[in-house]
Amino acid sequence: MEHAGKHALVTGGGTGIGKGIAIALAEAGAEVTITGRRADKLEEVAALNPRLHALVMDVAEEASVRDGVAQAAASRGPVQICIANAGIAEGKPFGDTTLADWRRMMSTNLDGVFLTLQAALATLGPNDTGRMIVISSIAGVRGLKNAIPYTASKHAVIGLIHGLSEEYMKRPITFNALCPGYVDTDIVRNQLPGLMKRFGVDEQGAIDAIAKGNRSRNLLAVDETTSALMWLCSDGARSFNGQTVEISGGQV
Ligand code: NDP
Repeated sequence: MEHAGKHALVTGGGTGIGKGIAIALAEAGAEVTITGRRADKLEEVAALNPRLHALVMDVAEEASVRDGVAQAAASRGPVQICIANAGIAEGKPFGDTTLADWRRMMSTNLDGVFLTLQAALATLGPNDTGRMIVISSIAGVRGLKNAIPYTASKHAVIGLIHGLSEEYMKRPITFNALCPGYVDTDIVRNQLPGLMKRFGVDEQGAIDAIAKGNRSRNLLAVDETTSALMWLCSDGARSFNGQTVEISGGQV
């Protein structure tokens, strides 16, 4: 029960990577606010543990984040663990990418992280400890073709944690990014119909095509991102600050 008495906020906590870490934090004693736009997904997860609390919040909307985080902190205290995980992925060639595509990606994947971290930090007192973790991507440390807005947004959040780790150096708060390769979640599964059509393959063929993007040829499982995140949240990681953790089966 390492996290007993702490309040954790997990954006995108109703599915995938966010759901995995939210459940693990609740099992470790934290009161966990899980957020997203779909109330039904959040309620399903909240039903799994009384320490999980659903809150509808759109990370792309400033007022939604400001009011949502303030409401969660009023109920469960300062946000000592913040997992800025909510994100979207879209792929198309650069030449076909519109400014609207670019802005949609940035408003969720970059503005959303900015708003979430700022609102979470505002709940902390000067001596409160904090673990601020962003889910970037392996596309945050190298280029991903046909996904330029996604690549740029995931690089940008790493810049955010680098800057924040410097700015808050004198306080007991750490800022880190997790950079997974392809993980078996909805964001990946939702790409299957398009790939099946594009390559003329069945579902397994499409999964294989995605898994090929991890040089291990396997999709990662959510429990792998959960264990890495649990370590980043731990007391033992208190001097681990301004870093990126790549979890991608060894590819560099
Ligand atoms: P999911 O699609 O399962 O999770 C994305 C989550 O983000 C959903 O719960 C979704 O909830 C939430 N979300 C999206 N837009 C918003 C918004 N505007 N406001 C609030 N919540 C939002 O996929 P993953 O779990 O895989 O993705 C989690 C993170 O991990 C993302 O940032 C993704 O880029 C990153 N990642 C994923 C990888 C993978 O291969 N799966 C690899 C590397 C990084 P809702 O729709 O209800 O709002």
